Amino acid sequence: MMTDSSTVQPDFMAPWLMVARQYVARAMREDKLSHAFLIQGQAGLGQRVLAESIAQLVLCENLTTAQSHACGHCASCMLYLSGGHPDVHRVGLVDEKKQISVNDVRELSAELQLKSYRGGAKLGIIDPADAMNLNGMNALLKTLEEPSRNTLLILTCARVDRFPATIASRCQRIKLRVPTRKVALSWLSAQDSNVAWDGLLDLASGAPFAARELAAGGALELDAQMATVPELLTRPNADLVELAERCQGSFPAERFRWLELWVSDRIRKLFVTPSAGSGSAPAVLSTARRRHLQGLYSVLDTLRASQGALRGSANVTLLWEQVLGSLSRELLRVRPVRGR
Ligand SMILES: [Zn+2]
Repeated sequence: MMTDSSTVQPDFMAPWLMVARQYVARAMREDKLSHAFLIQGQAGLGQRVLAESIAQLVLCENLTTAQSHACGHCASCMLYLSGGHPDVHRVGLVDEKKQISVNDVRELSAELQLKSYRGGAKLGIIDPADAMNLNGMNALLKTLEEPSRNTLLILTCARVDRFPATIASRCQRIKLRVPTRKVALSWLSAQDSNVAWDGLLDLASGAPFAARELAAGGALELDAQMATVPELLTRPNADLVELAERCQGSFPAERFRWLELWVSDRIRKLFVTPSAGSGSAPAVLSTARRRHLQGLYSVLDTLRASQGALRGSANVTLLWEQVLGSLSRELLRVRPVRGR
């Protein structure tokens, strides 16, 4: 499985990942390197890039004590950068499958038992590790309980709640946090200053790598497509089935997120009343506004439930019909009181 990380040069690395890699480098220097890392954090923060960067660092044959990144030109680094280092074994999702096969995990465990090709460390990367099923997790547990010498496992996971404690407790955890907006935007615009990153970063819930993927996949079009939806919903004869179809396309999760942002924005605006100056006490809302707020919060609940269901095998059209139906009812209900 090839990754985009082989092209990531150290100086181009995201600052929030660099901190994590420095931590690993320090552990190496102090000879306190764990035999397994679990990189956790919201999806789209660059978990895989970090995993790969740690792999290259651990394999580098030219590390000085002051360095926290691989040299990039020793024999091991050259092999790694060619994408074919024989001591790195990767397991991930293939062919758009939603689960990692247990056989892949068993194969990885077997590979890690073998002798290292270059006489150094052997690495296993499982990304995303939360896509393993129970059988896969059990197969991995054996490897974690009896690690062979000089092996390092790197697991990534976005949802630690779906991860068995038996595995998590045997790993050293690296927790990635969403960077500040300023850091994220500056990293993104350093890569392409012509993209309107603000909106994409919102859609990606602040995760810069996810925003970059959205840009690469043409998600700016998504914004234009979705922008027509709220207005269409306020028409009394709105065809929800037709609109549900309109809302489908690439980036299904981000489309729900788009509408979530739209509803949240409307909620924020309801709190801003002409009488509420800066520093004054929170505004007293009229009954109509309060009712509208409650209605919108209930739409948000439906939206979030749909986003959860989307991760399973739910019928996407049906999810959209429910979401659009609830928003449409609320928008039509308040129509007469708008502008108050
Ligand atoms: Zn090197």
